[in-house]
Amino acid sequence: MNPADRTLTEQNFLFRGMDFASVEYLLERSSVRSLAAGESLLRPDTPNHHLHLILEGKLSVYLVAQETLEHTSLLAGECAGEISLVDGKHPSAFVVAADPTRVLSVPHDTVWSLADHSHEIARNLLEIIAGRMRNDNLALIASQNRKTQFEHQAYVDALTGIYNRHWMGNAFPRALQRCARDKLPFAFMVVDIDHFKRVNDTYGHLVGDLALKIVARCLAENLRPHDLLVRYGGEEFAVLLPDADLEEAKAIAERLRAMIADTQICCEGIFLQVTISIGITPARNEETLENLIREADHALYRAKELGRNRAEVFAKSEEPPT
Ligand code: GH3
Ligand code: MG
Ligand code: MG
Repeated sequence: MNPADRTLTEQNFLFRGMDFASVEYLLERSSVRSLAAGESLLRPDTPNHHLHLILEGKLSVYLVAQETLEHTSLLAGECAGEISLVDGKHPSAFVVAADPTRVLSVPHDTVWSLADHSHEIARNLLEIIAGRMRNDNLALIASQNRKTQFEHQAYVDALTGIYNRHWMGNAFPRALQRCARDKLPFAFMVVDIDHFKRVNDTYGHLVGDLALKIVARCLAENLRPHDLLVRYGGEEFAVLLPDADLEEAKAIAERLRAMIADTQICCEGIFLQVTISIGITPARNEETLENLIREADHALYRAKELGRNRAEVFAKSEEPPT
């Protein structure tokens, strides 16, 4: 090894806090390897029999494939390949030179001789591995947080901040099952803003968006904590009222209708009010969500026909709509 490489090797974390000269002779079977940028050092499909001490340059670590997001990078003074040193298995990641890089590749049996020879080296090795585990745990936590955030985004409507139809498909059937199991009555409602196209046509889409947000918030604030509310379509909402008999459902619908009708929407000097129509269907036994939607839609249609700004109930004696 030339003097410059000897100095770089001595500065590696593996030799921290010990007398490098006393173990230097053990490195005679180690060799310096130069990697061009983009050249692969370790791959999960190729066995690795060396601990690579980075003398100069930078290595990138990829977990799944080289084309994916970089997991971490390793710089001069650090090393690569310590996991396969310990467990004797193939590398767990792709390690690729990010820049032109030179490493000192130390055979695994030499590393164990070094560890036998020096407690400091053994301890440094443990610290390197512990650091790697800690980094991986932090990356795992960050990835789980990202996953939770993506799940949240997939289930929540971006405009109104309430759950979307996708969430309804998961949550409503489970709530229906609970009601059936506990033999609780429940009701299902669809809520539709009246003449909403006119709001957009008269005041513009941004005012329409604001009206939608306000209606959603008003609905959310005036439901009971265990009621389930989703934005079902453009200007339509669906509500599941667990443990509500028909009278209670009608009272809730009337409260929502009146609250919305009394709400003043103000946007950049424009004041407007909107009304909602509601279709309610009561239920006791286990019902499919599809049936409930069909029945509540049928009642909603009647509410629109009868002049809007009102709630109508689907009578179970009515011919089931097709
Ligand atoms: P009806 O009383 O019969 O329900 O009449 P309507 O005008 O509300 O019903 P229609 O289905 O004809 O129109 C619904 C309108 O809702 C049309 C569409 O542009 C508007 N809309 C749907 N989603 C959004 C949205 O995210 N933002 C805005 N601003 N408008 C929306
Ligand atoms: Mg509609
Ligand atoms: Mg409408």
